[in-house]
Amino acid sequence: MTWKLGVIGDPIAHSLSPRIHSGWIMDAGLDASYEALHVPDGTFDNALKDFEKEDYLGVNVTLPHKHAALAAAADISADASVIGAANTLTQFVPGSWRADNTDAPGFIMALGEIDPRSDRVVVLGAGGSARAIVFALMKAGLSCIVLNRTVDKATQMLTEFRAENSTAGPLDQYKEYIESATIVVNTTSMGYSGEILELPPGKERTFFDISYGKIAAPQLDHAHAQGWAVKDGLTMLVAQAALSFEIWFGTRPDLEAGLRRCRDGLEGRS
Ligand code: NDP
Repeated sequence: MTWKLGVIGDPIAHSLSPRIHSGWIMDAGLDASYEALHVPDGTFDNALKDFEKEDYLGVNVTLPHKHAALAAAADISADASVIGAANTLTQFVPGSWRADNTDAPGFIMALGEIDPRSDRVVVLGAGGSARAIVFALMKAGLSCIVLNRTVDKATQMLTEFRAENSTAGPLDQYKEYIESATIVVNTTSMGYSGEILELPPGKERTFFDISYGKIAAPQLDHAHAQGWAVKDGLTMLVAQAALSFEIWFGTRPDLEAGLRRCRDGLEGRS
């Protein structure tokens, strides 16, 4: 039997997930398929019924369905429940879905070495991805400063997470807040409108933009020119994918191979 998998979202055509997972499926010699599945907003529940009929093993879930995925699951991981979103659904039992959030541990894997005693983290943005990231940072023992255009959203998130040691603030005061930061994580979608944040010199500090490709390039080029060690979101994308793959097949795939295939895809090489 061929294991059926996919990624659902709206839009979904440009997702790199099929490239990442199909490569790993091929590497492991598995009898499985992984496709991008366009599921328009408001049609999630019907789509899930179809996946049940077609015996899907699992799906990755992206915007705008991460909340709906959580609501539809019979079994929810403790982390996904607190974060309030799931990016991985698995049908271990026919007609019953398990919900996990691999964005949170995927972010920590991508960030690499962190030291809760000395790292000071500023997270820019308080949207869906920031929820997973702030949760992951808290779980790793770090407090953080969350700056958002809509400050109430950041405050609300920290209250929900009972993050007493973390603070919220306005995004337009980011310069003041990042002065003493050792790690800055940009989770805003500002890159889509071509805006960039002007950064101070960043020697021996990390600027991690969770976007990637052309969207993140101007911001990361600027950060690099200012001396920051830069990371784009591809490492996080591949890490969360690897953790989903591990849930489905019980084995951790090669992250470097996944990353290479993504970079080739973005650069137009096959
Ligand atoms: P959301 O829509 O949930 O959140 C968007 C965030 O960006 C909010 O904090 C919003 O502020 C802020 N924002 C949007 N436009 C502006 C602006 N013009 N000026 C200032 N702030 C702005 O999106 P997600 O959190 O789901 O995704 C954010 C980014 O992260 C996307 O680029 C996405 O592609 C990327 N991403 C990458 C992943 C990876 O694996 N690498 C995983 C998930 C997302 P406000 O609350 O005030 O509206």
